[in-house]
Amino acid sequence: MKSLRELDYSVLQQCIHCGLCLPTCPTYDITKAERNSPRGRISLMRAIADGELEAGAAFGDEMYYCLGCLACQTACPAGVDYATLFETARAEAEASPAFAARSPGRKVLRAFLLRGLFMRPRLLRLAGRLLELWQRLGLDRLARALRLTALLPARLRKLERQTPRVSRRFSHQLIAPVEGGAEARFRVGLLTGCVQDLIYPQVNRDTADALRAHGCQVHTPPVQPCCGSLLAHNGEPAAAADLARRMIDLFPPDQFDAFITNAGGCGSHLKQYGRLLADDPAYAARAAAWAAKVRDIHEWMAEVGIEPATPGGCVPRRAVAYHASCHLCHGQKIDAAPRAVLRAVPGVAVVEIPESTWCCGSAGIYNLTHPETAQRLLDRKIAHLRASGAEIVATGNPGCLLQLENGAREAGLSLRVVHPVTLWAEARREVQ
Ligand code: SF4
Ligand code: SF4
Repeated sequence: MKSLRELDYSVLQQCIHCGLCLPTCPTYDITKAERNSPRGRISLMRAIADGELEAGAAFGDEMYYCLGCLACQTACPAGVDYATLFETARAEAEASPAFAARSPGRKVLRAFLLRGLFMRPRLLRLAGRLLELWQRLGLDRLARALRLTALLPARLRKLERQTPRVSRRFSHQLIAPVEGGAEARFRVGLLTGCVQDLIYPQVNRDTADALRAHGCQVHTPPVQPCCGSLLAHNGEPAAAADLARRMIDLFPPDQFDAFITNAGGCGSHLKQYGRLLADDPAYAARAAAWAAKVRDIHEWMAEVGIEPATPGGCVPRRAVAYHASCHLCHGQKIDAAPRAVLRAVPGVAVVEIPESTWCCGSAGIYNLTHPETAQRLLDRKIAHLRASGAEIVATGNPGCLLQLENGAREAGLSLRVVHPVTLWAEARREVQ
């Protein structure tokens, strides 16, 4: 990826400093400081492109204080491409020796997690399997009972309590490589993701069921690379491009009608493969063709016509709130389709919550890197959910599922947190 100086200058010039994005920016809302606003951040990026500022530690901190939620992009009347600016700026920060030198431990952790685990799907699954075993044997509870976790720094102690339960079975154990007959109307590839695969593989199973019910033959290779969103959003564009090439090789675009994802954060990035590989002559055309076929599951169901989940009948009414994942509603501009999927489930009454498109604080790994700000956003979200009286909250991104589950548990709120497609698939199964 290009640096800020190499970026098409018109992208940096798009901002007309109107300030309309400021009220939608969660970090500006907290601090009321211009530098923590979209406009302030774009000014910093432009100063670097103009050679007036070095991309040092302060710049890096600011770019990582940004959630990358893209609410500013939705609000902007000038069409600022904040997603490109944000990814370029974080990559610029990572390339800065001053930023990297401040925390050698962070560098080691990044190398292990981003370029180690997330580049190797089998290794990631092995790590997931070990963690699942640790949890299943109750060693996590034993460590807490023996107060061994008290030896951890306070921040890690809190994170340890929030460690998600890893599933006993992963996606390849729930979904056959090919499901549905050749007579199906569409041939689609199902992307099982990383977090979704380890923590919420049932969402992938539910997605496969929904696809089959919508006339698809579903291809789900048992081992898939990470889509690269975590790397692209965290300043590792070269590694993200490498993963994109692997994904395109695994799913040749001329052999499929669509590539389906059920994770808002992944979909937002997958749709950028054309931009990511635009300068690679061996992949540019295929990447553009590939990106044009990416669909979020709700988007696809709406496109081909949402089937009612059951033939109808008398079912209990359930109040379901919808929390819009940032990269689904702001990154992909998909907001009506998930609500339409929910409304296709008998008994579901969608209740609107204030700020449904406001970040819950998950934001990739933001809840790990900036726990205090993430907690403030989570508290705000949970307060809206509590006031709504909803018994279920639906959301289309694994990071949001995790964040809301933790928030509801810590707040003592009885709330089921679920993917919309799961509610649809569960209702469908009831009549089969
Ligand atoms: S991406 Fe979100 S946090 Fe970052 S500047 Fe835009 S609105 Fe603010
Ligand atoms: S709304 Fe758009 S043009 Fe206006 S200040 Fe924000 S980013 Fe700049």
